[in-house]
Amino acid sequence: MNTKISIVLIEDEKNICSFMAATLTSQGYKISAAHTAKAGISLITSSCPDLILLDLGLPDMDGIEVIREIRTWASIPIIVISARTQEQEKVLALDNGADDYITKPFGPSELMARIRTALRHSNRLQTDSLLSQRPYRAKDLTVDFEKRLVTLAGSEIHLTQIEYKIVSLLAKNSGRVITYDTVISNVWGPYADDNNRILRVNMANIRRKIEKNPAEPCYIFTEIGIGYRMLEDKES
Ligand code: CA
Repeated sequence: MNTKISIVLIEDEKNICSFMAATLTSQGYKISAAHTAKAGISLITSSCPDLILLDLGLPDMDGIEVIREIRTWASIPIIVISARTQEQEKVLALDNGADDYITKPFGPSELMARIRTALRHSNRLQTDSLLSQRPYRAKDLTVDFEKRLVTLAGSEIHLTQIEYKIVSLLAKNSGRVITYDTVISNVWGPYADDNNRILRVNMANIRRKIEKNPAEPCYIFTEIGIGYRMLEDKES
């Protein structure tokens, strides 16, 4: 029986495709690669992989369309591969159901980290209620979701309701990027103004409270033009 974690890789640039396939194979993953969206989708339907790596710029179909199509029938984690200039497309990909993205050019360690995080979050779905009871812990920061208590090196941090909602959303999704719009609609509701200003103000206040140097955060990172990513829970 083959118990390797299987990944479908959809990427039309042959060099990148073979580099990624070699890296992942050497790490013990089972890789199936496709160079077009159509071939990729049929690979996914026939092999039901554990994870999908998807290039956004494919010759036969828009990557966003590929995500939408996959999401109509599967919740397999999708990591998008994109170019540096595609900020808007990354946001669109995340809002359409992609789990994360990786920007070209990237190294093997970054790729492996993204894959591990996405796989952990997909395993989490089954035990979601159990895991949300367990506090978030990374370095000196703890977020206890049951007590709604945030501590830094053992001292309680006083957050406003809004600040707590933002921190707990990011902590529950630690290691993943959460788009500005997702934060805004989770915290202020689906009809909130999509202006990011109030979010930025709240984030500045949160950073003043939890970061040693708010200009160089070590807990909540900004992904410019996209959203925030919280340092991954070390126990997840
Ligand atoms: Ca491409």
